[in-house]
Amino acid sequence: MDESKPLRYVDIGINLSDPVFRGEYHGKQAHEDDLDDVVQRARDVGCSKFMVTGSDLIESKHAVHIASKYPGFCYATVGVHPCQAKLFDEYPDGPSKMLEELRALAIESTQSGHAVAFGEIGLDYDRLFLSPKEPQLKYFEAQLDLAVEIQLPLFLHSRAASEDFERLLAPRLAKLPKRGLVHSFTGTMDEMNRMIALGLDVGVNGCSMKTEENLEVVKAIPLDRLQIETDGPWCEIRPSHASAKHLNGAPDLPKAVKKEKWQKGCMVKGRNEPVAIARVAHVIASVKGITVEEVCEAAWNNSISMFGLVSLHGEAPDRNKRSELYWKNLRTISWLAVRLFHMSGKGNKVADALSRWPTSTAPNPGRTEDDLDSINTAYAIDPPCAFLTSVISRDVKQKIATVWSRQHRSMFFGG
Ligand SMILES: [Zn+2]
Repeated sequence: MDESKPLRYVDIGINLSDPVFRGEYHGKQAHEDDLDDVVQRARDVGCSKFMVTGSDLIESKHAVHIASKYPGFCYATVGVHPCQAKLFDEYPDGPSKMLEELRALAIESTQSGHAVAFGEIGLDYDRLFLSPKEPQLKYFEAQLDLAVEIQLPLFLHSRAASEDFERLLAPRLAKLPKRGLVHSFTGTMDEMNRMIALGLDVGVNGCSMKTEENLEVVKAIPLDRLQIETDGPWCEIRPSHASAKHLNGAPDLPKAVKKEKWQKGCMVKGRNEPVAIARVAHVIASVKGITVEEVCEAAWNNSISMFGLVSLHGEAPDRNKRSELYWKNLRTISWLAVRLFHMSGKGNKVADALSRWPTSTAPNPGRTEDDLDSINTAYAIDPPCAFLTSVISRDVKQKIATVWSRQHRSMFFGG
């Protein structure tokens, strides 16, 4: 074990757009907005990346807004949760208009680097009183198609619906090289194995470790398919959970007080937050009988490579230091490349997407033309893009390089 290497975490499921992180509970302001403190506390324990869950159109916009407020730390998912599926049919201008708005938001926020996954989408047959089966199925399918079109990895939710879930998902996954993650997994061993067989990663939080059966499942999740989350403000690890006996030696949480007694620097009782990710990792390590370092490194690498979270602000692991802008744009190039690959032949759409690429800041003095011409090399060293080397032909890469550098040469090389 390398003692000098600090632990690092990605909280891949955190609902930072929930009003409780602004001090508002059930519509009433109980204390001041402490979102900055919540983010800082997590960063203090090594949680430097947050995937803010979007659960409907408005919440997805909200998540994108938070991502833009904390660039390089927070990223958004964009999508409509199965329990909100009926919102499509209730949309004032009709369901297709809502899908169209979701699509526009997903494209725009992917291009700006803020959205990294399509979700939270899926099926939830435990809570049919919130949305009946029919709209759930219909709009899960429609959103899966959007994710394939935009080539965003999936952020998935599945409860008591595995048969329908797999039936709709399997044929689309073949067209989605980055695949996706089933978050807050609470299924059986058999279901977990089927998720792995489909090529999905599995997200574990406090709710995934309530019972002994849950722990057996967590123990069996292959390390190269594991990602971790808090799902705050929900899913905290409670003393009554089977996980609690694995908390020996886990890092303590900051002091928690009732919301009415809130004071700066304190957590709020019953409001789970991303600082608790260290305890999730601790329990997983104990259950698996391995070190926390092993859990963290595996989960970190899995999240970074699936969602490409490194790009905005560097922190490129095991790579030459490159400029911020370089990584930001590399991700956009990769994203475009995947789209191009899937549209094969529809170059005009790619050109259109390129023209809407957000114009960036001043040319970077350290940049050389080699940087841009070596997109092939970049793919090889950038884990989020590594899969491209296998799926994209040389011709396609060349075409991207040509279109890209023609349009953006002046921006990057100055004139
Ligand atoms: Zn969920």
